[in-house]
Amino acid sequence: MSTITQEDLKFDREHIWHPYTSMENPLPVYPVTSANGVRLKLEDGREIIDGMSSWWCAVHGYNHPVLNTAVENQIKGMSHVMFGGITHKPAIELAKLLVELSPEGLDKVFFADSGSVSVEVAMKMAMQYWFTKGEQRKNKFLSIRSGYHGDTFNAMSVCDPVTGMHDIFTGVLPINHFVKAPQCGFYEDWDEKDILPMKDAIEQYQNELAAIILEPIVQGAGGMRFYHPQYLKEVRQLCDQYNILLIVDEIATGFGRSGKLFACEHADISPDIMCVGKAITGGYMSFAATLANKKVSDGISQGAPGCFMHGPTFMGNPLACAVGVASINLLLESNWKKKVDTIEGILREELIRAEKLSQVSDVRILGAIGVIEMKEAVNMAQIQKQFVDAGVWVRPFGKLVYIMPSFVISEKDLRTLCQSMIEVVSLQ
Ligand code: PMP
Repeated sequence: MSTITQEDLKFDREHIWHPYTSMENPLPVYPVTSANGVRLKLEDGREIIDGMSSWWCAVHGYNHPVLNTAVENQIKGMSHVMFGGITHKPAIELAKLLVELSPEGLDKVFFADSGSVSVEVAMKMAMQYWFTKGEQRKNKFLSIRSGYHGDTFNAMSVCDPVTGMHDIFTGVLPINHFVKAPQCGFYEDWDEKDILPMKDAIEQYQNELAAIILEPIVQGAGGMRFYHPQYLKEVRQLCDQYNILLIVDEIATGFGRSGKLFACEHADISPDIMCVGKAITGGYMSFAATLANKKVSDGISQGAPGCFMHGPTFMGNPLACAVGVASINLLLESNWKKKVDTIEGILREELIRAEKLSQVSDVRILGAIGVIEMKEAVNMAQIQKQFVDAGVWVRPFGKLVYIMPSFVISEKDLRTLCQSMIEVVSLQ
């Protein structure tokens, strides 16, 4: 691997935008030269334990021989071919797996380039569904606060208007509706009052709503919250009762992260439209899919113009589909459920100790996700360096210090990761 020089880093600082970082006074970046299993190798030779799975994606760890082989074999056949008028085996195989594994009824697959695009596609499908039925006024969305759905415009419009990172665009985003986030936690007793704000909003806006969109059970980048499965069950019932579509964003939760293959399974519901992304390729490349049920696809296809009006250039990219097939099969063969349950048990044993720290306001664990919520927002540059110096990669935001490690992490590495997390948090 070629070295990254000080000059390279100067170029990076001056010319390359990194996520959510100033171009004028950028936060430091850490040069990584390779990644293997759960370890990132830094330019200076240090190896650090990865706690982030590259933002929920790398569920099998890095540089996995099975996934490498899938990509290498596919490259020899074809890396890409347009999807308009053409189909191929990797796309068919991936769609078969998604149809088979996803909640019942979701049997139409639209391949997209990234999570945000799959959310755009989902929202566009919902709108087109009502347009073709002659109900143009049903073009708004209702969502819950503390949600996050991506960085493109429609996706931004359903992110939490404050914590969803897009508040400066409020004036120009499509106007959608929000209700208070569910208050009943995943492990708490269900309180039937929790659904009332949603019910009131649906009654108020029912004639203009195309769909409700939410992250099932786990709210990710908008707050790292875990809510009660009964809430999701009741949202499904309300959607049926008031004839509103339900879009579920499983981009972060899909493929085992919450302890179920899809988080919808905690509530035993099936949405009308579902977005999946991130771990779909085991973190090898950007890819996502929007699944829809027959009601949605019939609605769109049986009215003018008779087709869904979307078709990105890299739709159904064969490399991404091939690695997606390999990654999902690897997951299914890997006893993932036992691994995630073991990770959950260790996270609980280790992270619970953070509850005693004066800096900490809450500790939450679900599946392979561990969250320490601080009382104050952290100093990013400082805490990031402390984590790296402690030998781990943890990337907090705001008050949230959290990990979602790869499912292949060993018990020893996971305990080290958690202990370093507590050590660093106690220094804040
Ligand atoms: N939805 C959720 C729940 C997400 O967590 C994310 C990414 N953080 C997105 C959508 C957007 O996905 P992408 O970054 O691939 O566009």
